[in-house]
Parts: sequence; structure tokens; C-alpha cells
Amino acid sequence: MDPLDIVGNLDKIKPVYQPIVSAIRHNIIGYEVLGRYDNGDQWLSLGDFFHDTDVPDDFKVEVDQHLLHIAITEMLELNREGLLFINRNAKQLLVNDGEDLLQTLIMFEEKGFAMNRIVIEVTEHDFDEDFEILNHLLLYYKTYGVQIAVDHVGAKSSNIDRIRQLEPHILKIDTTIIRKNKTEGFQDIMYSLSLLARRIGSALLFENIEEDYQLYFGWKHGGRYYQGYYLARPEFGLTSEDALAVNVGEKVTEYITREKALIEERLTYLLHWEQRVKDLLPRFDGTKKADSFIELVTNQFDEESFRMYVCNSDGQQVSSNFRKLDDIWEIESNKKGSNWSFRPYFLENMVQMRTWSRGILSDIYSDIETREMIRTFSYPLSDQHFLFIDIRYSFIYDNESLLI
Ligand code: CA
Repeated sequence: MDPLDIVGNLDKIKPVYQPIVSAIRHNIIGYEVLGRYDNGDQWLSLGDFFHDTDVPDDFKVEVDQHLLHIAITEMLELNREGLLFINRNAKQLLVNDGEDLLQTLIMFEEKGFAMNRIVIEVTEHDFDEDFEILNHLLLYYKTYGVQIAVDHVGAKSSNIDRIRQLEPHILKIDTTIIRKNKTEGFQDIMYSLSLLARRIGSALLFENIEEDYQLYFGWKHGGRYYQGYYLARPEFGLTSEDALAVNVGEKVTEYITREKALIEERLTYLLHWEQRVKDLLPRFDGTKKADSFIELVTNQFDEESFRMYVCNSDGQQVSSNFRKLDDIWEIESNKKGSNWSFRPYFLENMVQMRTWSRGILSDIYSDIETREMIRTFSYPLSDQHFLFIDIRYSFIYDNESLLI
């Protein structure tokens, strides 16, 4: 496609709208606006035109302005509520100091389309150049109520610091990265991104959802909004809820049922494990006999655990390490005296255990020694003594409820 053909034939260009669905009420809260070009035979995506760095930025501005005019006019004519998500790259925004877009939005505001219904999507790789100027411009737009989204978050290395500076209203997470066997690494990225989003008050939007497991992933990882072919393709008309390809409410009900069952199953493990230790508790006789007590515990956790020890309330290890090597529990007495209070949540968990007289199951983490993903079950033996039972990965892996 010749860019000149496109700019010279604006009458052959129309917007399509892809619905964005909310996790809260499962309704459509807005549409992302994309461009289509009629070449005589078919409607082609304008993606290539917009992504081509050889196309002059003012061409792109002109086409985008045209699409925006049509989109807002249609929303107003059809009396549609909700947001319009529009894509703009940094260079395009900076043409004429971003005044074209602003003036258009001011004009439409007078016609009844509030500025806070516009969400500008900027992509992360736009941050590489001119970040300060872009940040400044977006702050300026924000003062008018315009919302900002960062597109394709997590696709490449994330500019965490710049996202933090920008404080966007929405982070759009690209779920094409999630392929069933690759979720593990992405889960770690998601963990950091959702912490960041909470800190700066951004909502997570999961896009490019094409299959059920991607929607499930988005729901499970705190996605407030969803978008993708699995829900609806971009259409010339403004799709309504009953035309969505799946019933999001029903889907979420499935996920809730599944998730609750897994949590209950996990708690059942915890209760069993607590009971096993409780039954042995009358035989716990203080620090000096900690090792002989652990020996009793190893029999009870032979299948689940590969390592256990006892610490006092200052985090100091008062027993040997019991470690299972080739099916035999070895005693490593040189570990006695180690202090573990520096580990994340250690003191917090210890006080919790003591206060509630309950065991705690940690989340999944990578063991520093073995590099294996493990969990730790801990239990208060007394006000001063705490038993730590490391659960081996193969056991976790065989029990789905322990993987979440
Ligand atoms: Ca986009």
C-alpha cells in the first residue's frame, strides 16, 4: 500500500472497534479504535501503515484524526457510553506539540463527549526516545482528564521506572506471550507488574485473548479488563454485550468454582500437616532434644519433605538440618546456629504462628541451595520454637492445588 494512496483517499478509510470487557460487571466498558482501508476488493488493516517508520508522522496524524472524528461522531450519534481507546506513537503525538489531538478533543467535549472517555495508548518502546518530552505531553493531556494506557506491557523488557513515572491509568498486558509451557517465566513478570500496578494505581487490561486459558490467566492475575478475539473481533459496528463470543460472567463463575476448590484442597493439606505435627507435639522437649523430635517428624513427612529444622523466635536454628538424600534422612549438625531472620516474611510468619497457634504454608519460591521451586510448611512447637518443613518440588508438582 502506498501511503500516499491512503492519505489521498480518506473516504476509503473507516474505523473498526474492538470491545473491551470489564471483570467487574462483565459488560463492555469501551472500544479500541483500529483503522481499515478499502482497496476495492477488501478492507485491509492499517497496522502496517502506522507501524512503518518510513511513513511521515503527519500522514499518520491525518489518518488517525480522520478515524477519531468518525469514531466519536458514531459514539455520539448512537448514544453509546464508555471509553474510546486510541493508539498513538510518540513521534505522532509530538507533531505540532500534540495540539491537533487536543483541539479535536476539546471540540468534541463541547458536543458532549467528555475528555475522560478517551484513553490514549502509547507503546512501551516509545519510551526509548524523547521520554521526558512525551511524559510532559501526556501529563498535560491528563490535566484535561484524558486517560493514558501503556500498550504491549511485558512484551519486551519492561521499563518499570518509566511506567512508574508515567502513572498510566491502564497497563495493557499482551497475553500472546502466554503459551501453556511458557507461563512460568511470565508469571514472575506478572507478579512484578501487578505489584507496580497496585502501587501506582493502574488497572490491568489483558489483550490478545484468543483462548480460554488466556482469559483465565488474566482473571487470575488481577485483570480488570479483557480484550481479544476470544471475546470479540474488531467490527465496523459498535458490538453490544449480547454479541460477545463468550459469556464472560459464566466463564468467571467457572474460574471462581475452580479456584475455590483448589484453595480448599490446599487448605486441606495444611490441616492434615498441622494435625500430624500436633499429634507429635507432646513429645517435643525443648531445644536440647530438638533433633530427636525432628527424627519423629521425618517419618510423618517422608513423602512430602526433603529438609526440616527447628528455629527459635529470633530466627536462630536450634536443631541440625535433616536432609533427605537418596531416600535416607541425613543429619547436618553444622547448620545449627544459622540465623534465618533476614529471610522475607520470616519474623512476620513467626509472630503470626505464635499469635494464632497455626501452621503457615509459604508461597512457591526458589530454594537458594537446591535451586528447586519449593514451599515451606512451618508450625509453632512452643512460644519459642518453630518447625520448618520444606516441601519438595516433585510433590508440589503432582498436586495442582499446591502450585497456586
Ligand atoms: Ca493497542
